[in-house]
Amino acid sequence: MANFYCEYCGTKYPSVSALTNGSCSRHPNGANKGKHKLYEGSEKTKYTCKYCGTSYPSISALTNGSCSRHPNGANKGKHAPAL
Ligand SMILES: [Zn+2]
Ligand SMILES: [Zn+2]
Repeated sequence: MANFYCEYCGTKYPSVSALTNGSCSRHPNGANKGKHKLYEGSEKTKYTCKYCGTSYPSISALTNGSCSRHPNGANKGKHAPAL
């Protein structure tokens, strides 16, 4: 049984349609300013930020932290998981 995760907040859903139906509290445009976005990578035991390389045990832990190498500027955005 596959799980589907939001790339922004790490919330787990049983289907893509359920995931993309929900507002995302960590959407880059602001809390609940957009829908969850499907994380298209595979399920992993740890996730690495594609900007700075820091690893976390879950997407939700990763996206909870500000990224010092975010493309919008240091700590101007959250870590983002690499695929
Ligand atoms: Zn989300
Ligand atoms: Zn980062």
